[in-house]
Amino acid sequence: MISELNYFMRKLHHISGPILYWNLLAMILIGLMEGIGIYMLVPMLSLIGVFEMGSSGIHIPWLTELLHQFSENGQLLIVLLAFVFILSGQAWMQRLQTIRNTRIQQQFIRTLRLETYSALLRAQWSFFLQKRKSDFNHILTTELARVSQGTSLILQMAASLIFTAIQIGLAFWLSAKLTSLVLASGLLLFVLLRKFVRRAKQIGDQTSEFSQSYYYGITEHFNGIKDIKSNMLESSHIRWFDRICRQIERNVVQFSQLNTGTQLIHRVSAAIIIAAFIYLSLQVMSVPPANLLLIILIFSRLWPRFTAIQSNLEYISSMLPAFRIVRELKDQTEKNREIRDSKIEKGTSASRPIVPIELVDGIMCEDVNYRYEGSDTYALKNVQASIPAQGMTAIVGKSGAGKSTLIDLIMGLVKPESGRILIDGKPLTEEQLLNWRSSIGYVSQDPFLFHTSIRENLRLVDPDASEEQMWRALRFSSSASFVRKLPQGLDTIIGDRGIRLSGGERQRLVLARTMLRNPSVLVLDEATSALDSENEQQIHEALERLKGHVTIIVIAHRLSTIRTADRVIVLEEGRVIQEGGYQQLSMDSSGTFSKLLHMQAGAAGQ
Ligand code: ADP
Repeated sequence: MISELNYFMRKLHHISGPILYWNLLAMILIGLMEGIGIYMLVPMLSLIGVFEMGSSGIHIPWLTELLHQFSENGQLLIVLLAFVFILSGQAWMQRLQTIRNTRIQQQFIRTLRLETYSALLRAQWSFFLQKRKSDFNHILTTELARVSQGTSLILQMAASLIFTAIQIGLAFWLSAKLTSLVLASGLLLFVLLRKFVRRAKQIGDQTSEFSQSYYYGITEHFNGIKDIKSNMLESSHIRWFDRICRQIERNVVQFSQLNTGTQLIHRVSAAIIIAAFIYLSLQVMSVPPANLLLIILIFSRLWPRFTAIQSNLEYISSMLPAFRIVRELKDQTEKNREIRDSKIEKGTSASRPIVPIELVDGIMCEDVNYRYEGSDTYALKNVQASIPAQGMTAIVGKSGAGKSTLIDLIMGLVKPESGRILIDGKPLTEEQLLNWRSSIGYVSQDPFLFHTSIRENLRLVDPDASEEQMWRALRFSSSASFVRKLPQGLDTIIGDRGIRLSGGERQRLVLARTMLRNPSVLVLDEATSALDSENEQQIHEALERLKGHVTIIVIAHRLSTIRTADRVIVLEEGRVIQEGGYQQLSMDSSGTFSKLLHMQAGAAGQ
């Protein structure tokens, strides 16, 4: 745990640099001024003879002499003016320091946010397969906010420690004996209350756990809202929500109980200790009343500092789990980095330029084996397949046969366990990965559109796309006619994930967006499965227009989509069981492909 703090503190130091020391210096100055302002009032008043301090007062002969040159009223005014001046200066500096603290904190958290987010986006695909996406949301929102809060608390704690040290120093100057007593009681109490700090961390662990479940739950439920509503699952989900909210509530209350508990102990101890001091001073040691005032002064200044430190420690402890979680994610994403290129990492202009690959010959899978992490069975086994350039290749097979996995391998999203993927005869290496991916246009089954205008959605892939280029892409994907009919045309905002468009329209828009990239390889992953025949026909026509210019890879459930395919790869249980032209395979009546064709024809005829 301490190593986590150490890590983040080093990071903070790295991000903020020398300003951190200036901040520390300002804290010391502010602490001094506050200390002087308050502590000096009584002795200064005694200095000009307002009342007698006895032996424990301060004696600064030159100051006394200086002050005694003025009239009594003048002396009082000077002392009080100095007091106002010091405290106002302190307040002003305090403000500057708070602003600087906020800057340091915000800069720190911004850097951390950016680092976490970019490390996530740069992690390889297989990393995302093992993780829940809601956990990333949770970390990027709640946990990072806690880290931010924790950092600010640590800065405050540093300030608090410096203030306290200064005040202890000043108090020592006033009365070493009394200060030692107060200090000893404070330390004793701190040791006695140690276990509360540990308990605060346990509560913090639970806070992370609950908020993670909360995020996971709400993300899942809203993703599946249609299923929830249509199957009338609302009440069971509301019950779950109620339960998790109660757990969160209990957790926060528990922390509050703990924190206020130790505060209570501190205050009660303060009352007891001060009462004991006063009793001993008056009855046993016969201390003059002015010294009694000093005792109360020292105590009332120092003790709340101890209380605040205890409270701060508990808060920081409760936030330690967030520090751990953010650090863990960073380590994991670093380990799962897709491209290990230090130049790209820094995002500098020196990073390698991305040059799309023009496919000339085709793609080859050479004896490819692949297993998903944690799975014993091979999703792909000894796969040999070739995909000719500029042709249309269909990958068919039953659900779970390995079609999507094969496409992921071809796109370089996952790496083969053994075997190679060859692009124009050259193995797909890490150096080539980004070039290769920039040549691919991918349309999934669940097309993703952002909640913004169609124009913005298209510009996402090409910020400089002209109006004409956009319309060309739209015409190409058979979407120009429906976009023209929309109330604001290209500027129509499409709802959350494009909900106000039909599945087919969304699909065609995504295809248009993909086409704007001028891909040399177009991958359609069951992109037409959910479409009706008319929409499917339109996509089909779009593909026909592309044939001969672009390498097309289609996964299709419905074999009607691929009737013009130049090549068909039939997968079954992770193996290629047939490969050849559409006509050739459909003629082979004993083959799986013709059986699949018959089955679909039969189903369509029913
Ligand atoms: P298809 O696209 O043909 O339906 P997939 O390529 O999705 O098939 O899946 C091939 C096999 O790999 C299936 O047995 C499936 O259960 C398994 N699989 C797919 N995705 C994962 C995953 N993320 N983790 C573990 N196994 C997976």
